[in-house]
Amino acid sequence: MENKRINVTRSSMPSYEEYCEEIKELWESRWLSNAGAKHKEFEKQLQDYLDVPYLTLFANGHVGLEVAIDAFDLKGEVITTPYTHCSTTHSIVRNGLTPVFCDVNDRDFTIDADQIEKYITDKTCAIVATHVYGYICDVEKIEKIANKYNLKVIYDAAHAFGVTVNGKGIANYGDAAMFSCHATKVFHTIEGGITAFKDKEILDKTNTLINFGFVSHEEVDYVSTNARMNEFEAAMGICNLRHIDNEIAKRQKAAERFVERLSGVEGIRLIASQEGVRQNYSYFPVFFDGYKLNRDEVQARLAEENIFARKYFYPLTSELACYKEAYGASVKNTPVAKKASDCVLTLPMYADLTVEEVDKICDIILK
Ligand SMILES: *Cc1c(COP(=O)(O)O)cnc(C)c1O
Repeated sequence: MENKRINVTRSSMPSYEEYCEEIKELWESRWLSNAGAKHKEFEKQLQDYLDVPYLTLFANGHVGLEVAIDAFDLKGEVITTPYTHCSTTHSIVRNGLTPVFCDVNDRDFTIDADQIEKYITDKTCAIVATHVYGYICDVEKIEKIANKYNLKVIYDAAHAFGVTVNGKGIANYGDAAMFSCHATKVFHTIEGGITAFKDKEILDKTNTLINFGFVSHEEVDYVSTNARMNEFEAAMGICNLRHIDNEIAKRQKAAERFVERLSGVEGIRLIASQEGVRQNYSYFPVFFDGYKLNRDEVQARLAEENIFARKYFYPLTSELACYKEAYGASVKNTPVAKKASDCVLTLPMYADLTVEEVDKICDIILK
């Protein structure tokens, strides 16, 4: 058998016919962006699916986070972690705020809620935390801390579309939560993002911030950007939303096979599922710590067989060239994040990944 290329991810797609049917009206209406019919319909469906009262659609996940932070008009320091996409850190820094890097916990690599308080000063204004690989942060403890010190809580939920806690949509936690709808994510709109908000006031402000700060045709109240989602993206979202539960179920099958094959192997660590949480199986991270091969060797072996796993998240954002000088020293405060980034490999994970392909990947790792 020829070695078919297996990438770390592969976009879910509706059928060609389904998408064409969905965009047909656009040739009639010629309304292609700026809150058109598809945009409005998609927003309604998402409020229902994500189980949240207020949300805004964006051109991509990053601007969904950056603009949401802007809407809160914050100043000072933001407690966050370096074990995330650079987007999280960029969205803080591009808002003129200072990231303060807290370590992650050793169970699921989300922010270590027990360490947050030691970083709080009179300059602290918010906590910006990531639901890593769709595993959720300790949302209850974070909420308690935020209430005690009057801080905003903004979640980078880019990985967490469709995740629920005790039946409640994950975006009900925090003052805002951003989902990325990039082509590589569990749920996508080609490019796109969704941010859910707790308060209507912040929602209304955000809806002006995504459109240059226009509050009416002739009035611009804020210095802002263009972060709008267009109708073709919304139409892709409407199609993909019809299939999301089925796509997640297919991912679950692949994930369960990985767990079956890799759990209990000495030197290989997986993240345990969280109680009461409906997972979305967005990634399949494996930590090679004391295994006969190190992470880089496993990655190279897989690549020889045309299988492409990724070191995600590596490096830590505090170690990136753009942040190293200012924040590199903070790495000593985040040993758990540092170690995770040195041993992690995310294996291929997507809805169409077959059990045979999972077996092939595991055979190579275990050989
Ligand atoms: C993908 C991702 C983003 C950025 O989302 P885009 O839609 O690509 O802009 C931000 N944070 C995390 C954790 C991500 O994985």
